Amino acid sequence: MMQLNNTHTYDLMVVGAGMAGMAAALFAARKGLSVAQAGLTGETLYASGLFDLYGVIHGSSGEFIDNPWQGLQGLRQTHPDHPLCKVAPEQIREGLETLTGFLKTAGLTYKGYADRNARLITPVGTVKRTFRVPATMWAGAAALEEKTPCLIVDIQGLRGFSAAQIVGSLKPSWPQLRGATIAVPWEERLGPKYAEHIARNLAAEGPRKELADVIRPHLKTAQAVGLPAILGIYDTDTIHKELERLLGVPVFEIPTMPPAISGTRLKEAFDAYMPQQGVKTFYHHRVHTAVRQESSRFVLEIGRSEPEKTLVANNLLLATGRFLGKGLEARREGIRESLFDLPVSQPENRSCWHRKTFLDPQGHAINLAGLEVDRSFRPLNEAGRPVFDNLYAAGSILAHQDWIRTKSGTGLAVATAYGAIEALTGGQAERKNG
Ligand SMILES: Cc1cc2nc3c(=O)[nH]c(=O)nc-3n(C[C@H](O)[C@H](O)[C@H](O)COP(=O)(O)OP(=O)(O)OC[C@H]3O[C@@H](n4cnc5c(N)ncnc54)[C@H](O)[C@@H]3O)c2cc1C
Repeated sequence: MMQLNNTHTYDLMVVGAGMAGMAAALFAARKGLSVAQAGLTGETLYASGLFDLYGVIHGSSGEFIDNPWQGLQGLRQTHPDHPLCKVAPEQIREGLETLTGFLKTAGLTYKGYADRNARLITPVGTVKRTFRVPATMWAGAAALEEKTPCLIVDIQGLRGFSAAQIVGSLKPSWPQLRGATIAVPWEERLGPKYAEHIARNLAAEGPRKELADVIRPHLKTAQAVGLPAILGIYDTDTIHKELERLLGVPVFEIPTMPPAISGTRLKEAFDAYMPQQGVKTFYHHRVHTAVRQESSRFVLEIGRSEPEKTLVANNLLLATGRFLGKGLEARREGIRESLFDLPVSQPENRSCWHRKTFLDPQGHAINLAGLEVDRSFRPLNEAGRPVFDNLYAAGSILAHQDWIRTKSGTGLAVATAYGAIEALTGGQAERKNG
């Protein structure tokens, strides 16, 4: 029998350390709850650093959205069961502002328009709609919009980023776009180079000056310079401003293929700053078992490879992601939720998971599978009632959304985390008042 007498009881246990878990832990801590959080932050490394809200119409074959708020209004009409429709637009704004405000204090400034998506260059030379953009990438949105004479620079030996490919794709609509390849001056070692290695070097003033010196001869008529995302890990805003000063033109980063420096920046910011928000973090820990006791408290066994600690919480928020995050598991007999074995809304059988063509513009039914939740983001049982009144879920584990196709990853994570924490704190207040 587990001994729990001296175990501290948290108001909330957040399971998951992806974007949804981070947002939920942040919002809950700001509301004054005592919060514990477990999960692997390593997966944030795959993020591009761009915060999408809603960029492609759900259920369409790829129709872009310029105004995400209008897009969401349309979504309410066509797909009211989509999780983004369970949160009011002003709450989504508030959630995104809280998250970007937090990241600013951690040294990562975000920019964007109030009511429209920005258009940004991707590492393969396509254009992507997104809502919030790291300040180090922001000048790229203006350069693309105004078709400013622009130089894209790539680095000899740095894989996964080709100026020639970007210029080749965009030149027909952007005649004054040019590319150049440079060698990073302080790196004499032959062989492949890594963005992280270059970024860490740029923490020092000398290499920043040397980088500007090798770019300058290629500038010619360029009025803006695009680089792969390499401008440091911790003090990117300062490094970015200094490079602009040294070159005398706006400089912008372009996200590289994952795992990317922009993801490393987010991971490092969350790792360092979430504890300062009062969140008790157990990063690199998994929740091995979670049981809801008769007292309605959750008792969790957490640890790296095996259980090391017991935690107790009055509420639990599941932000365990999909197949990559391991919140959902695909089995021969169907898809299951991995921690509580909650019911998963899913296609009738495996043969309905995918359409015939992998790149079918309509997407695949399996991507809409996930947890059904009520308006308070509580997972539902087969009878359509909350499984537990104090269990919540947020992020990509939710059903009826396809965040990859609709370009809504961070928006979905933040909006649903905000909705869940509002419901939890509102519900608690209601219970207290009677
Ligand atoms: C390659 C890639 C590129 C992306 N690019 C963008 C982009 O350009 N713009 C954008 O807005 N979004 C982007 N995203 C999406 C975004 O970063 C999030 O992945 C997405 O919003 C889903 O977040 P999530 O928190 O729901 O799930 P996940 O990110 O999958 O996180 C799940 C978390 O749950 C944890 N977990 C699972 N089971 C347990 C357990 N038993 N115990 C403890 N922890 C557990 C995992 O360790 C992980 O921390 C990208 C994602 C990927 C993978």
